[in-house]
Amino acid sequence: PQEPSKVRAEAVVDLDAIRHNVATLRSRLASAKLMTVLKADAYGHGMLPVAAAVREAGADWIGVAVLEEALRLRAAGDNGPIFCWLTTPGEPLEQAIAADIDLSAGAPWEIDEIVAGVVDRPARVHLKIDTGMSRGGAVPEDWPALLKAALAEEKTGRIEITGIWSHLASSDEPKSPVNEAQVAGFLAAVDVAEALGVDPPVKHLANSGGTLALPETHFDLVRPGIATYGLSPFGRALPSDELGLRPAMTLRARLAMVKRVPAGAGVSYGLTWTAPKPSSLGLIPLGYGDGLPRHASSQAPVQVAGERRTIVGRICMDQCVVNLDDDDAAAGDEVVLFGPGVDGEPTADDWADAAQTINYEIVTRLGARIPRRYV
Ligand code: PLP
Repeated sequence: PQEPSKVRAEAVVDLDAIRHNVATLRSRLASAKLMTVLKADAYGHGMLPVAAAVREAGADWIGVAVLEEALRLRAAGDNGPIFCWLTTPGEPLEQAIAADIDLSAGAPWEIDEIVAGVVDRPARVHLKIDTGMSRGGAVPEDWPALLKAALAEEKTGRIEITGIWSHLASSDEPKSPVNEAQVAGFLAAVDVAEALGVDPPVKHLANSGGTLALPETHFDLVRPGIATYGLSPFGRALPSDELGLRPAMTLRARLAMVKRVPAGAGVSYGLTWTAPKPSSLGLIPLGYGDGLPRHASSQAPVQVAGERRTIVGRICMDQCVVNLDDDDAAAGDEVVLFGPGVDGEPTADDWADAAQTINYEIVTRLGARIPRRYV
């Protein structure tokens, strides 16, 4: 890797912050186990280094969405429990089953797909009940049929029912009645399962919001994602420092050019911003091709030499322009786009506000063109 003082741009990921966040999350649990969610390249932070850090910090499980992610973890030598919940008809499940990856089924035909991939050992399966979000999983009226299909295959020894699970739709609003309704739906589904003799070792429901604000959603295992990276699932309503979390990622770049322009100079495509007075402009070598949200044009904050500055004009594919006013910054100087916010730099939440989105999207969409550096 290039020296930090020479890079175009980089996302610096503080693994110590991630280990701290794992410890903070664990401290919220009475007896539940912890599954940290590392899908989408660990929300943009880089899956393999983060996996090593969370295991070291005591994550019992790792959760991922898709098979490629689970298999990549195994190929890298992660031998701990891994749960992978999103498969698509026809995907080759043999490798995942042979690698002891726990899979999810939400319909009898999904059990059939899993069974078709069984070779030398039972597939480990978590049964998903849809408690109201209408993504995957069996709706309550289809739940008994799913349980019976799973039980029949468990009797043949081709699957082992290792979990029952569901997902919260509104835990970012802990007071929403939706949470209570989903817990009630989950408990009812567990009762139906037990009555049929299905009582697997882990029942799980909570994401970060549930883990941090709704202890009644913890059951045997929690599945926080965003909080692992030190970002709050509650946005401005309950910021990360109040939750004892440390944002792990800092996105920095170096100014590719600085120049003076006269009053009236238009900036970037469409000349949507014009300098109201003679101004210094800095060229940031990052754009939507790197995952910056173009939607944040002319509003996104950055920090240059300790000062808050604003991006002006449209964010382009590879570059954008910061208004330095009369600052005497020079080409090569550091720009911090976002970080933990402890030194006055903007945060992922500031970018989320500028782009009218959520902090999740700001970190997750950062592309492969930005090198990650681990500290
Ligand atoms: N569990 C499932 C099934 C998910 O899809 C996700 C992510 O959306 C999570 C857990 C983690 O959610 P969060 O990042 O809000 O903690």
